[in-house]
Amino acid sequence: MTGAFDRSAIAAVIETARAALPDTQRDLEALARIPSIGADPAHARDVVRSAELTIAILQEHGLENVRMLDLDGAHPSVLGEWMHADNPDAPTVLLYAHHDVQPPGVVANWTSDPFEPVERNGRLYARGVCDDKAGVLAHAAAVKAWLDTHGTLPCNVKVFIEGEEESGSPNLERFLTTYSEDLRADVFVLADAGQWKVGEPAITYMLRGLATIDVTLRALDGPVHSGIFGGAVPDPTVSLAKLIASMVDEHLDVAITGFGDDVRSLTNTERQRILDLGSSAESYLRAAGARPGVLPAGDPAINVFERVWARPNLTVIGFDSHPLAGSSNQIVAAATARLSFRLAAGQDPQRACDAITTHIYAHVPCGLETTVVVHEAVPAWTTNPVGPAFEACERALTAGFAKAPVAAGMGGSVPFVGPFVNAFGGIPALLIGPEDPHSHAHGEDESLHLDDWRKLIESEIHLLAELALTPLR
Ligand SMILES: [Zn+2]
Repeated sequence: MTGAFDRSAIAAVIETARAALPDTQRDLEALARIPSIGADPAHARDVVRSAELTIAILQEHGLENVRMLDLDGAHPSVLGEWMHADNPDAPTVLLYAHHDVQPPGVVANWTSDPFEPVERNGRLYARGVCDDKAGVLAHAAAVKAWLDTHGTLPCNVKVFIEGEEESGSPNLERFLTTYSEDLRADVFVLADAGQWKVGEPAITYMLRGLATIDVTLRALDGPVHSGIFGGAVPDPTVSLAKLIASMVDEHLDVAITGFGDDVRSLTNTERQRILDLGSSAESYLRAAGARPGVLPAGDPAINVFERVWARPNLTVIGFDSHPLAGSSNQIVAAATARLSFRLAAGQDPQRACDAITTHIYAHVPCGLETTVVVHEAVPAWTTNPVGPAFEACERALTAGFAKAPVAAGMGGSVPFVGPFVNAFGGIPALLIGPEDPHSHAHGEDESLHLDDWRKLIESEIHLLAELALTPLR
């Protein structure tokens, strides 16, 4: 045994956490009532309010030295710590979540107010309730349960709650430079991923990167009559549609020259791990709620999980032309698309953006005036999910869920992970979290499975003990 406790100390901590669960949920609901939409400048003040409430919550949960980490022009993040582990060899664990949220989308499509949490059939519904305010409270609840039960934690803990995750962490490098010593840790635990299925935990070891590019094609200073000029003046909307179509092949896979040259092929072990999960593109599509008759995109020769975790993809996330309402027989002056490229392991984001930009200029119809704006570009992240920290995490999730976790990928991006892990010499990164395939993160009617959230909290209680009991190096 190392330190002042052994595994027999855990059961009482779990009991404490269960008794506190109604309070934990109340705190989550309070946090979810704040529309901390980082991408919308009109909500900048709400992001500050949610950072302030996060500070209060962490303090109330026994964390010390809780403070806002500010940077000029950035949304505030929050850091708290508890650094009094008895065992001098105990690791310092950095627990990560984020308090900013996505916009609600079309509010009318929500069954209930996106910023008034409502419980239905064992799930709690509200924007950010799952992604990722449940992660904030999971960390806080695990810490408090240990402190309330035994007056101590098995290891040193820092809780870091980012405020810019949903904006793509644009100030990440500056942030890591400024606060390097404050954030220093031996192991990174992120609660922004989730379960494989309801009741079946996962450890995520693969994230895609992201490059966002706006392209505008302009023909005119203002709109003109489509009858008089159609056939002579190139329509910017048709031209942009044609340009976008030129970026993909018949499977809708990205087909830009040079773009995918540096995609890393999966190893046999990685591919086997994916095949062992045994899913089909068809069932993945149905889980997304695709309408009857819709067929899967992507090269059918490649396993669906490899496609969504380890291959690039293009999504048009915004398109400005003329709305249907008020449309008339005009050729619009300009059209803009926001292109969101998920990047695969191996891809250099800068190189990818260069290839996309070159492609755009080479494929613009009729010499339309072209503007390209590259917003953010972050690389993919992968790790080999083996070694003592992963084994500790497997034991913790198995104890919390009464079910062994699967090693899984996630097609989304968490820009913080790679740079953070690298800043501290490649420390182990354990990606777990509150989401499940029905959570609709970023969609409408986002929700949290409350019983899996309880299991996540209990897994974190185990994890703090397991990491303390495991020599990480
Ligand atoms: Zn998230």
